[in-house]
Amino acid sequence: MSDILQLHCPKCGTPIGFDIRRQKYRCTSCSWQATPARMKEIRPEWLESVGTFAGQGRTGQVPEAMIPFALKREEAMVRMYGWGKAHNALPEGRLAVEQSGTLTGIYLPFQLLRGPVHARVKADERQREDICEGCLEGFTVSMSGQMNEAVLDRVASVDWSEAEPFGSGSVIDHPIQYPDLTSDSLEKRVQKKAQAKFLPDVRKALNAPQAKLVSLNTDDLLTVPVLLPFYLVRSGRMMVIVNGQTGEVAATNEGAQHGYPWLLEPLVYTVFATFLLMALLNLSTIPSLIAAVVLALFFFGFMGKGRRSLIRKLFGKKEPAVADADKEISPVPRGDELFENPLDNTPYFPARDHKQTTFVP
Ligand SMILES: [Zn+2]
Repeated sequence: MSDILQLHCPKCGTPIGFDIRRQKYRCTSCSWQATPARMKEIRPEWLESVGTFAGQGRTGQVPEAMIPFALKREEAMVRMYGWGKAHNALPEGRLAVEQSGTLTGIYLPFQLLRGPVHARVKADERQREDICEGCLEGFTVSMSGQMNEAVLDRVASVDWSEAEPFGSGSVIDHPIQYPDLTSDSLEKRVQKKAQAKFLPDVRKALNAPQAKLVSLNTDDLLTVPVLLPFYLVRSGRMMVIVNGQTGEVAATNEGAQHGYPWLLEPLVYTVFATFLLMALLNLSTIPSLIAAVVLALFFFGFMGKGRRSLIRKLFGKKEPAVADADKEISPVPRGDELFENPLDNTPYFPARDHKQTTFVP
């Protein structure tokens, strides 16, 4: 167990919370407090990490912590093979079965974020904008530009209590991938994730399921670059990945978006069968068209059956095809309580609060 990712009071060592109403970090047992700006400077645990990530990180940060591999290579192979067997209708599943013996370990760069956010919120379309203050309790964003973000999201949950400081004494047993994401793209990812994490809290606080975020300022979030452990195999645009700590498996198949062979097959059958019918029964135009539609329905429907990915491949162009992570195999505690705000974490609406204190005795 380690709590190096916990924020501690520099005076007495107690975990620090963020007081949303006062907009200050505050110690729960002594009088110590700090503004978000001041807190960004302090973070006592991380004073030693200066310099750039091996001299080439565009974000200009060294990883401050790492989650070590808990899974041996052989164990990861077994996980990947088992996952492949269970998903052998997918090309990713077949890749997992065939290539599980060649998987390699790698540390991938992430950013761990938490802290205050400032939003403009609309409870519904007719209402005016409201200022809303909140605090996010911890989420990760991948800093890798080459790796599919969605698939990493599926397997990036780790037990944070196993985190170790990254430094000269660290045992680096696998290669490290360096962040190759521009700060612009990183900011976009942070914004997207922060919105997804904050919106449910806002809706709950307002009791307004239609509430929307008009804007979200994430500048005050504390950021910690971390390395997370993975095993993976790749082939072309397919990738199968195993979380090196929890054993969770997921896969991506970006090439599957261009499903021409799958499309072509039923199309060829349809055309062929239509002409055959036209020749045999001497059909005129309208009956031929009807026959073609019926045949197309039959072939496309038949060929899609048992290959559920077909539908996804044809229509899922917005999202790259990502096979589901296998959640059942990782009953690992997440250590998320390390990031829980010991103070009230409910989003706060200063204007609404003001009304109440003014008009309600
Ligand atoms: Zn204190």
